[in-house]
This record gives sequence, structure tokens and C-alpha cells, in this order.
Amino acid sequence: MKVQQKLLDLADVDAELLRIRHRRINLPEDKEIERLKKERQARKDDAVAAEIALDDLDRDIKRLEREVDQVRQREQRDNALMQSGSVAAKQLSELQHELGTLGRRRSLLEDELLDIMEQREAAEENYKHAGARLSHAEEELDAAGSKRGDATADLDVAEKRCDTDREKLAQLFPEELLSLYENERRSHSVGAGRLQGSRCGACRIELDRGELERIKATPPERVVQCPECGAILVRAGR
Ligand SMILES: [Zn+2]
Repeated sequence: MKVQQKLLDLADVDAELLRIRHRRINLPEDKEIERLKKERQARKDDAVAAEIALDDLDRDIKRLEREVDQVRQREQRDNALMQSGSVAAKQLSELQHELGTLGRRRSLLEDELLDIMEQREAAEENYKHAGARLSHAEEELDAAGSKRGDATADLDVAEKRCDTDREKLAQLFPEELLSLYENERRSHSVGAGRLQGSRCGACRIELDRGELERIKATPPERVVQCPECGAILVRAGR
């Protein structure tokens, strides 16, 4: 019964299909994509934080510029008043005093403004750098995505080839034998194995002498199953 030998080809195809399925759910590219997604999120958070820092400094700069401007206007007004000659001596000394205070205040504000502008330069560098790192992370993620696509396409091709082989092979078997095979495959993942010496090729368990005698005594055209795993045991030449 050479048809039983063909069961081994079918079992090979099914084993290959299992390997393909296993590879598909354990793609290293998927792990890489997961890692890169986290990386991209971290870079995005950095970029957002850098942008917020920059915006805060811009707001501080605007506020300080406004304050400096107000002090300057006040100084101009006081100066104009002093030069108008229309103020009394007491008010004149008050104005002089105020101008002194305003000058010191403006100088402090201008120092602070310079300091913040320097901070802004550093923050802008930081912002640009964070943006570049985010772009890089996005590029890496894109590349990993296409690599995954390639890997999946390869598996699709292999799976399709197996499916075709399987359909062709399945036509060779009597219905009863095929359904026995399918049942065993469904319940134990392997439907048929070669009897190698005293060992079942499906579960690798060694059969005892009694079982071997029983199998030996079974006519070749009859189907025998492994007493351990249920797989159809294909005997040499059958
Ligand atoms: Zn077995």
C-alpha cells in the first residue's frame, strides 16, 4: 500500500505549515516594531516637552520685553516732565529719585531678559535635536514595517505553496484514510509518522515488543496507529 507512504509527505507538508504559522506569530520584526513604537513615543514626549519649554521661555521673553518697555516709557515721561521746567523743586527731587529706581529696575529686567534669551538659544537647540531624533525614530519604525511586510510576504508564498501541495496530496487518499489522518492531526497535531525500528516517527516513543509483534502481524494494507500518540504508523514499503 504505497498510498500510506504518501501520508508521510502529507505529514511533512503539515509540519511545514505548523512551522510557518509558528514563525508568523513569533516574527522578530513584530518585537522590533513594538520596541520602536515605544522608542518613537518616548522621542515624541521629548519633542513635546522641548516645545513646551521653548514656548514658556518665549512667553517669559515677551513679558520681560513688555516690562522693560513700560519702565522705559515711565522714564521718558519723567524726563520730559523734568525738562518741561513746570515742576516744583520737591517734585523734581522725587522725579530724580524715581528715575534712579526705574533705572535700576530696567537694568535688572534687561539682565534677566539676556539670561532668558541665552536659555532660549539652548532650548531651541534642544527642540531641534528632539525633532531630529523623533524623525529618526519614525524612519526606523517605517523601515521595520516594510521589513515585516517582506517577512510576511515570504511566509504567504511558503504557505500558499504548502496549501497547493496539500490539495494535490489529499486527492491521493481514500476518504476514510484521510479523515483518520485529519482526526489524529487535529487532536495530536501530527497525523502520521514513519515506524523507525521500534520508534514512532510522530511521537518518538519506543514501542514495546508486544505492540511491535502485533503491528508486524497486521497485513500491510491495513492501517495501524501508534498506541502512544494515535498517529498512523507508516511501515517501510507500505
Ligand atoms: Zn506515536
